[in-house]
Formats: sequence, C-alpha cells, structure tokens
Amino acid sequence: MKVSLKDCQAIDVHAHPYIANAVPFTVDEYVRKLSLAVIPNQISPNYKWVKNQPYPGSNMWVQILTGRLAKYFSCEPTLEAVVAQRNVKAANYKKFTRELFQDAHLTGVVADFGYPQPPLSKTEYADLCGARIWEVFRIEPEMVRLGEECQNFGEFIEKYRTVLADALKRNEVVGLKSIIAYRSGLDIAPMDQGNAAAEYEAFRQNTRAKVKSFRDYCLHVAMEECTVANKVMHIHTGIGDGEVVLPKASPSFLLDMLRDSKYEKTKVHLVHGGYPWVEEAAFIVSILPNVYMDLSLQNPFSGHGVKRILSQVFEFAPFDKVMYGSDAFTVPEMNWLGVQLFKECFEEVLGSWVESDYMDAETARVIGEMVLYRNFENVYQDQLKGAIT
Ligand SMILES: [Zn+2]
Repeated sequence: MKVSLKDCQAIDVHAHPYIANAVPFTVDEYVRKLSLAVIPNQISPNYKWVKNQPYPGSNMWVQILTGRLAKYFSCEPTLEAVVAQRNVKAANYKKFTRELFQDAHLTGVVADFGYPQPPLSKTEYADLCGARIWEVFRIEPEMVRLGEECQNFGEFIEKYRTVLADALKRNEVVGLKSIIAYRSGLDIAPMDQGNAAAEYEAFRQNTRAKVKSFRDYCLHVAMEECTVANKVMHIHTGIGDGEVVLPKASPSFLLDMLRDSKYEKTKVHLVHGGYPWVEEAAFIVSILPNVYMDLSLQNPFSGHGVKRILSQVFEFAPFDKVMYGSDAFTVPEMNWLGVQLFKECFEEVLGSWVESDYMDAETARVIGEMVLYRNFENVYQDQLKGAIT
C-alpha cells in the first residue's frame, strides 16, 4: 500500500540564509553554487565532452535537481535550460523563493546565521521565505570577536559566557551551535582551565588555529549555558565543506562528553547526523535520551543515497529522535529539493515497511510526519512561538 507524504508540512531543522544573486547565473556559476567544494571544479580546455553527458563536475544531486526543476519549470531536462528558466523566475526572488517553499509545504527553518559571514538580516530572510525562522546561535564567530577584544583568558571567558547566556534568552534562539569539527575535531577532552588559558594567545594570533584545549573548554561552556537555559546544543558532525577535520568528525568521538553525568539533562542535536557515520549517530541517539539527530546535508546532497540512509538510520534510531533537514546554503532550490527528494525516498521506505507487514499504512504515515515536523515540535516546544515571521 502506498504511503503519501505529499501534503505533509516540513520543518527544516538545519539550513543557512541567502540573498538574491545580483546578476543572472551562468551555468558554471550555478553548478558552483550547488557544490560543497572549497576549490571550484576546473574544466580543462582539452576536456572531451560527448552528447548527453552531464555537466562536467556535476554529481547525482545536481543531476536529480536538474530533472526535478525541469519538471517544476516545464522545460527541457538540461542544466542549460533549467538555469535559463531559473534566471527568469529568480528575477522576482521573493516570489520565486516563496513559491518553492509553498510547493514543498515547507513551513519553518532553523537557520544558522553563522554562515555566510558577515551575517545576513534575520527579518529579511524570514520575509524572503514567508516561513517561520528560528535561529541557532553559532559560538565560533563570538570566540573570534571576543578574542580581538579581550586581553586575557579570564576576561574572555567571562564575556563569552555572558554573550552566550544573553543569546539564549532571545525567544527566536533555539540553542547554540559549534563547528568544532572544522577546527580541532570532536574528541572533546574534559574541561581544563590551565591548558585552555595557555592556548589563548595562540588563538588570538590565529583564530583558525587548532588550540584544542581552548576550543574544548569553550564547547563545555556552551554546553553548560544550554543546560542552564534548557535550550539545545547543536554540534556539527560528519562531513561538511572541504575544511572539516574528517578523521575526527565521527559522532562517536563525542560519546565521552555526552555520557558525562554533568550533561545528563542537556539536549544535544547532532547536526548532519554524522554522515557518513550515520549508523553511529543512530546508535548514539538510541542510548542517550537527550540526544537527537537530523539528516541535513546527507539529504539532499547524497542524491539517491537518501533512500538508503532513511532505511539505515531506522535500524537503530528511535522514530522520535530523527529530524528532517537540508543544510541549504546558497539558493532556495536546495530547501525545495531537500523536501521533495526526502519525501519521495521516505515514501518508498515507509511503503516497503507496510509491505513487509512491520506496520500499517497509518502508522507509516505518522512516522513520516514525525520526522518531517512533529519531532521538531516536541523537542523545541518551548521555542515554537519565538519564531521570526
Ligand atoms: Zn550547515
């Protein structure tokens, strides 16, 4: 029996804001906007290109996006035709964005305004999307800012704590976020004030320096402030852009910290569900009552992989621990395809569970709703009304 999620609303629990491109995109620029790569793909002048070949450097996700957008625009399923249509529609960027959100039944986004830098306007982004926008407050830009301002570690930590506590008091802020996996990795050591203070000067000299003790200490302070405020600590796990410390990005490195009795009540949100270590994330959320995960980034950027992931993640993860996300970061098409692809893939997976007689179609549909928005509403229920609209 078919399970349909078509009319189900979705809340995107991890994405980034963007603004309209000032001039229409060339195909090359558009492909670059869709890529996680830090260094743009180079097409050599001697590159041999045959008819019907996908655009050089494009992968499955770009292929799927092209096909689905061609249907949405009613145009030829080629990247050239899609970009041409996109440029026409995006001339009215607000209309274009809002229609994509409505088509996907996307009613809310938890936005990480830490990327891009300098931060974009929150109210303008909410107006652009026509959806509820919540904010997750990134700690690293504050560390950099206070590093310039504070002469010594003691002064830094005092101000840093105050800044985090003040941010957490704002209604639209659902929690704090750390990208420590981009700097020193997820093997967080216990708090060590002496070592952290000793590395403070090195951090001031180079704010991208590893300075692991210092960064670990700052993450603990963020965990403590989230605990006090009863808001959620978001931690980047798994792959990201090309800068990530990949050998230390698996969520399993977080286990010692997460199991610490000090953080028993702290809500933690594993951003990107640790992809490609998604089964490890699924296990972690299954053993720790206050730890949750989302499927952003792996959805939609793993393309056809989304179906496999949805099947795999529920080998261990409880149904109420996994949330929908996209990690859209440059264009609203990312938010849109995120929902469309996720729904298509989940419908197939849920349908197979019904067929196997693991559950009836009604239960399968409810599991779809849980992941698409109900779990978010449960975990973040105290913050729901704080959204920027
Ligand atoms: Zn992100």
